[in-house]
Amino acid sequence: MKRLALVTGGVRGIGAAIAAQLKNDGYSVIVNSFKTPELDKSFFETTGIPVVPFDVSNGEECLLGVERIEREYGHIEVLVLNAGITRDSFLSKMMIEQWDDVIRTNLSSCFYMTRAVISSMMERNFGRIIAISSINALKGQKGQTNYCAAKAGIIGFVKALAQESIQKGITVNAVAPGYTDTEMVRQVPANILNKIIEQIPAGRLAHVEEIARCVSFLAGEGAGYITGETINVNGGQYMY
Ligand code: NDP
Repeated sequence: MKRLALVTGGVRGIGAAIAAQLKNDGYSVIVNSFKTPELDKSFFETTGIPVVPFDVSNGEECLLGVERIEREYGHIEVLVLNAGITRDSFLSKMMIEQWDDVIRTNLSSCFYMTRAVISSMMERNFGRIIAISSINALKGQKGQTNYCAAKAGIIGFVKALAQESIQKGITVNAVAPGYTDTEMVRQVPANILNKIIEQIPAGRLAHVEEIARCVSFLAGEGAGYITGETINVNGGQYMY
């Protein structure tokens, strides 16, 4: 039996690359999406990967979404917490909504989704939970107090949950990508993006496939003794 993997926010960007990599690795893969029915349809047509839409920032929707996936496809053994947003603003001008949206979508979603799958992983004595953090969780970034707080929260989340779950064969890790060539980064004005690229020793943005390969490694059977870690994939831009 193939193991079942779920990738949140998986119809585009890094999530789509992770889904494709995991499928290539031999998993049955399901992706979650948000409000993109057209994209969901074309994604399914080109990849054959089923898409289950629900809002990961809503705890009730996460429970119902996971219930539906488990009913239709089986138990989730690999959970990739990838969905994320930015709502940048300097703190003095940040609206409460911008703060709340980013915390709920990027961090609370990790709790909602993990809580929905962890009991079944524990019963089966196997699980892989991989959350996508960010270089900016580690180094900070002006204009992103909300995003940096959420992504740094993920690092604490994986460390605590790793200790709670390793004895049940479940590993919990984070991957912290550097600036990666996706729509999220294409929204950054060109002059700012060029300055960012100048600061990357690799001299370029990451390719989505490079992030996906790291997730694939952590999902594998052979990575069962790695837990509570955050792995940087950032072209040498920041090391700790
Ligand atoms: P994209 O903006 O390209 O994709 C984000 C995905 O998350 C989309 O599929 C989006 O769905 C989904 N999503 C957003 N909100 C929700 C929600 N409430 N419920 C379900 N799905 C949702 O981002 P990237 O591929 O660039 O980023 C993927 C992850 O990697 C994010 O967590 C991001 O923070 C992180 N990251 C990205 C970096 C980069 O440079 N690109 C660097 C470091 C970390 P929809 O299509 O409906 O909007």
